[in-house]
Amino acid sequence: MSGFNLLHLITKSQPVPLRSCSLPSGACRSKKTWPVSFPQEELRKRLTPKQFHVTQERGTESAFTGEFTYHKDEGIYHCVVCGGPLFSSDSKFDSQSGWPSFFDLLKEESVSLADDFSFGLHRVETTCSQCGAHLGHLFDDGPKPTGKRYCINSASLAFQAAGPAEGGASASSGAATCGKVDL
Ligand SMILES: [Zn+2]
Repeated sequence: MSGFNLLHLITKSQPVPLRSCSLPSGACRSKKTWPVSFPQEELRKRLTPKQFHVTQERGTESAFTGEFTYHKDEGIYHCVVCGGPLFSSDSKFDSQSGWPSFFDLLKEESVSLADDFSFGLHRVETTCSQCGAHLGHLFDDGPKPTGKRYCINSASLAFQAAGPAEGGASASSGAATCGKVDL
């Protein structure tokens, strides 16, 4: 009996080496610890091969091939991996780069930035702050007022159209999308 108790005590009092990153602020940014994480196996099943490659292996889809490059519907672009809201269609513009481009974020904290020195270039990588999914890159040649160009892979995004519930009648939306060529 006493032997069992002693063993139990020892086990209990041993320090648990669980020193994961618990620091506030951006101290842990460089390490791969994100608030949300998904098993790679699950992602391989849930995402298309291209979505997986881009978001998990920091890939880049070929220019002009992404489904959202010329997408002009009103709504919100979410992270395809975790569903976190990233960009609004209000800040989307045609950069003629072949990738969906935005001049602003939906929320400042929704995207993390990091230096990327791949291919002998210095670029700024954009990553989902929630799950660490690779999104694309940030450049400083965007339009006013921000001057920023978030060059994002379509494969990193999931689009949610603005709900017609609030405004009520918006019957002209279909015609407007095709007929209008502003800017
Ligand atoms: Zn995400």
